[in-house]
Amino acid sequence: MPASSTPPGSPAVTQIAKIGLDVPLANTFDFLIPNELDVEPGRLVIVPFGRRRVVGIVVAVGAESNIPLEKLRAIESVRSDMPAVSADLMALFQFCAAYYHAPIGQIALNAIPPMLRSVKRLPDKLHASMRAVGITSAGRLAIEALPVRSSVQRSILQWLADGPQLESALRQRHVRSSALLKRLREAGWVESLDASAMPSSFAAANPSTTTTPSTNTQSSAPALNHEQQAAVVAIIKVLDPGADGYQAFLLDGITGSGKTEVYLAAIAEVLRLGKQALVLVPEINLTPAFLRHVRSRFPNHQVAPAHSGMSNLARFVAWRSAQDGEADIVIGTRLAVFTPMPRLGIIIVDEEHDASYKQQEGVRYSARDVAVFRASQARCPIVLGSATPSIETLDNVARGRFTRLVLRERAVVQADLPTVSFVDLDAEKAPDGITQSMIRAIDETIKRGEQALVFINRRGFAPALVCGGCGWMPECRRCSARMVFHRGIKRLRCHHCGAEAKLPLKCGECASTDLHPTGQGSERIEDALTAAFPDRRIARVDRDSTRRRGSAEAIFASAEKGEIDILVGTQMLTKGHDFSKMTFVGVVNADGAVFSADFRAAERMAQQLMQVAGRAGRAQLPGRVLIQTRFVEHPVYQAVASHNYAAFVSAALIERRLMHLPPYSYLALLRTESRNAAALDSFLHRAQQLAKSTLAETIEAGGLRVWEPVTATLERKAGYVRKQLMLQADSRRSMQQFLTSWIDALRSVDSRAVRWVVDVDPVDV
Ligand code: ADP
Ligand code: ZN
Ligand code: ZN
Repeated sequence: MPASSTPPGSPAVTQIAKIGLDVPLANTFDFLIPNELDVEPGRLVIVPFGRRRVVGIVVAVGAESNIPLEKLRAIESVRSDMPAVSADLMALFQFCAAYYHAPIGQIALNAIPPMLRSVKRLPDKLHASMRAVGITSAGRLAIEALPVRSSVQRSILQWLADGPQLESALRQRHVRSSALLKRLREAGWVESLDASAMPSSFAAANPSTTTTPSTNTQSSAPALNHEQQAAVVAIIKVLDPGADGYQAFLLDGITGSGKTEVYLAAIAEVLRLGKQALVLVPEINLTPAFLRHVRSRFPNHQVAPAHSGMSNLARFVAWRSAQDGEADIVIGTRLAVFTPMPRLGIIIVDEEHDASYKQQEGVRYSARDVAVFRASQARCPIVLGSATPSIETLDNVARGRFTRLVLRERAVVQADLPTVSFVDLDAEKAPDGITQSMIRAIDETIKRGEQALVFINRRGFAPALVCGGCGWMPECRRCSARMVFHRGIKRLRCHHCGAEAKLPLKCGECASTDLHPTGQGSERIEDALTAAFPDRRIARVDRDSTRRRGSAEAIFASAEKGEIDILVGTQMLTKGHDFSKMTFVGVVNADGAVFSADFRAAERMAQQLMQVAGRAGRAQLPGRVLIQTRFVEHPVYQAVASHNYAAFVSAALIERRLMHLPPYSYLALLRTESRNAAALDSFLHRAQQLAKSTLAETIEAGGLRVWEPVTATLERKAGYVRKQLMLQADSRRSMQQFLTSWIDALRSVDSRAVRWVVDVDPVDV
C-alpha cells in the first residue's frame, strides 16, 4: 500500500470516496482519496479490502464519513487505462441497487467484463508478443460451407466470429493449434492482427467496418407487409426530433409473422440517425445465428456480441467498442443490458416472455424490466417482441403503459398455421415414451422427404431408476431430489447440484438387482426413435449434447441443410430456429406442469408449447403438431390446439385476480438456506417478526401481507436446507417502501449460519 493515507500538512478537507465493491455487505465503503489521485464517480479503482486488493467503482466523492478518518484506508490506485463509467450507466446501476435492494457495487461489478473486475493490468496496451487472430469475411462464409466432419475448424471459426482472440487462448483450447492456424490462414479464413491495437483492431477483423453511408443497408430486406410496415412506422415515429423519445412497445406477433424484419427495419432507421441499437436475446445458443443475420443485413456497421459464453478478452473488446461508440449494434443475453452505449437509440428485447431474462443468482434482476427503465432514462423506444407475451407485459398494455403492435399473419403467405391433434395416453400405450400414433406420423413425414421435431421437456435418459422389488429410487445425497439416469455416461447425475454417482448394482433398501429406468428423458426418446427408424439421421439437442461451444449451432446448421431427418430435444429446440422443411412437431410429455405448485407453471407451459408448435411448417409446406397427453381437456392444450394464446391468458388472468397474484399484486421472496435447520428457523422467525413490526411502523396504506415461512420447492440443495418467506403488496410503492426498512433491519440480524437474499418480482416461487 502506498504511504499516502493522510500525509501531514494535507489540506484541511480530506476527500473521501464512496466505493461500491462486489460484496453483499454495505451499499458502499468509504476510502480516503490520496492527493495525487484523480477520482470521480464512475472510475474503477483498486482498494485494499481485508487482506486482499480488489477492484471497486467510485459512486460518489465528498468530505463526509460516518467512520473516524483514522480508521479509513486509502485508495491504492485508479484504473487510468479505462474511461470512467458514464453518468447515465451509473444512474442505471443506482436504479437497480434501489429497486432490487442490492449493493450498487455488486450490480456494477457483475455488469462489467471480467477483465475489468480483476486487479491485473488491462490488455489494451498489449505487448507485441501477444499475437491475435481474427476471422475474415471468407472465414465467416466458410462456417456454413464446411462439411460436418471438419468440426474442429468449424468450431474455431465460430469462436472467432464473436471477435478476435489471442493466439495463446487458442493454444489453450486446441493441442495442435499452430498446425490448425496455419491451415486456416492458408485458406484465407483467418488473419493475424496487431494485438497492441486490439480494441480498434476489432474493426479490422470485421472488414466492413469503415462506415460508409448505408445506401445498401437494406439491400436484402424483403418488402414489408402491411402489419409489419405499420409497426415500423409506429416505432420510428418515436425517433422524430420533436417526439418525446421514449415509448415502450409490445410487438405481439405469432411465430413466423416476421418480427425480426420489424426489428431490422427499426434498427436501420436508428443507424441512419447515427445512433446505436441494443438487442437482447434469451439464449447464448441463439446469439450466433441472430448475429450473423444482423451482420449480413448491416455489412457497413460494426456489431458487437455480449454474452457469458465469450472469452474474457472478446467481452472486454466488445464492451470497449460499445463504450467508445465504435460498435453500432450490441447483441447479447441479459448481461448485455448493462453495456455502455453513449448514442443509444433503440432497445429490442426478443422473446420478452423468456424466463432466462431473469438472473437467478447473485443480484436477481430482470433484464427485460431493467431494459424498460434504461429506455425511459435514455429517452429511446423499446420493443418487446413475442408470440406469447408474458402476462405482466400484457397487463402493462392493458394499463396503457405499453403500446401493442400486432402481427396477425404469417409473413410467408402460403405458410398456414399447423393443425394440432392429440394422442390420449390413457387410451394408447407409450412403451419407451412414444406411442405408435406418434411413430406413424413421424414416418409419414420423413417419407415425404420432410423433417420431424420431437420435443420432450426433460434431459437425461430417465428421470429415475426404480427397484422392481420395493419401489426404491436413488436420491441425491445432498438434495431432496432423485438422481437422473444418464445412459450415455452410464452414471446417475443430480440436476440440481451436479453431483454424479456410479450406477448402483443393487437396491439400497431390499438389495434386489432388479433396477430399471422409469419415465422418459431426451436420451431415452432418442433411443426409442433410433430403434424405430434405424436408417434415419437423428440428432439430439439438449444441454448435455451441446456442452461444447458451437455444437448446437453445428446441429442446427446441418438440420437446415437437410442432413438430419429427426431432431429430438428439450426446450432448446423451442426457440427461434427456422427450418423450412420441418413440417412435423411431436410433443411426447409435457404434463408435468399440470401438477406444479408454481402459479406460473401453466403460463410457461403454454408459451413453450405455442413456441414449439410454431416450429412446424414455416415455409411453403403445411405443418402438423401431435401432442401425447393424459389431459386433453386442459386449458393450456386447448389454447395450443386453437392457436388462441389470448384465450389462455384471459382464463389465467381471472384466476390470478381471484387469487390476488401478479399482475394484481406485487411479490418479493426472502430466500434462505443453511446447513443448520434450527438456525434457519430462528432466522426466519426473526425475519417474520421484523416484517410485522416494520409494517406497523412504515406502511400507512396497508395492503401488505407477510406469509408464513415455507420450505422451498427443492427442500434441500447441495447439503443446504432451503426455506422462503413471501411478501405480497397491493402496489409497487408500498412494496418498495416496506423492503427498504425491512431489509435494513434484516442486515442487523445475526445470520452467520444462514445465507439469504431478497428476490424482488420472483419468477419462480
Ligand atoms: P418471427 O420472428 O416473427 O417468428 P421471422 O422474423 O423469423 O418470424 O420470419 C419468418 C419468415 O418470414 C422468415 O423466413 C422471414 O425471412 C420471412 N419474412 C419476414 N417478413 C417477410 C416479408 N415481408 N416478406 C417475405 N418474407 C418475410
Ligand atoms: Zn428394492
Ligand atoms: Zn444434488
